[in-house]
Amino acid sequence: MSRLISRALAFGLLTLLAACATAPKAAKNTSKTFTTVVVDAGHGGKDNGAYRRFGGAEKIATLDVAQRLERNLRESELKTVMTRSSDVFISLDERVAIENSQKNAIFVSIHFNDSRRRGIHGFETYYHSGNSSDLANRIQSKLMTIPHSVNRGVHTANFRVLRLAYYPAVLVECGFLSNRSEGNNARDAEYRELLSERIAEAIVEQRYGPGVYHASPQVAAAQPQPANAGHEPAPAAPQH
Ligand SMILES: [Zn+2]
Repeated sequence: MSRLISRALAFGLLTLLAACATAPKAAKNTSKTFTTVVVDAGHGGKDNGAYRRFGGAEKIATLDVAQRLERNLRESELKTVMTRSSDVFISLDERVAIENSQKNAIFVSIHFNDSRRRGIHGFETYYHSGNSSDLANRIQSKLMTIPHSVNRGVHTANFRVLRLAYYPAVLVECGFLSNRSEGNNARDAEYRELLSERIAEAIVEQRYGPGVYHASPQVAAAQPQPANAGHEPAPAAPQH
């Protein structure tokens, strides 16, 4: 009896999960109200993502940028959830489930790009629902404040983590590992900090408006940072 009931429950749950995975609700527009940022480091574990001589494994660079982004967002008093915090494989559906289990969130997925043509370079940001386009454009334009950056534009895409999201969701391609210059940048901790700063700034602006990011309490108080190997000094903000 109890086994039957638990089987029925399990079946019901599976049906529900299947329904959730294939038919998402329309994305809620939380782009001005969100309290949580789900930070997604692309790839991981058995899935290297791109792997290039200049840039190394994409999964390593994405995790580092994601962790720096998380820290910068927390310093701006936003809640964060990471889809992964170490070099582990997480399926796309698990990433979507983590994203959609939040109450009032946005989703930001960090990737690096790859091309057979080494000359191709630049930043791209992707979104799926119209509610995500503001955030995508804001992130792209903040990335464009990085010196020598090349704009490959904001585009819509049917990526699973975007299409199935209940909340505004974007995917950022932080440069081409296949390009000598951007691949070298992807290996540079200071540059990865810069990427995470620009993305964090865009997210904070999206939520609280311009000017708030650098006025975060910690920055305003100018507290000395303890020596910490994982904490690179923030590069000087060049143009804004
Ligand atoms: Zn990727």
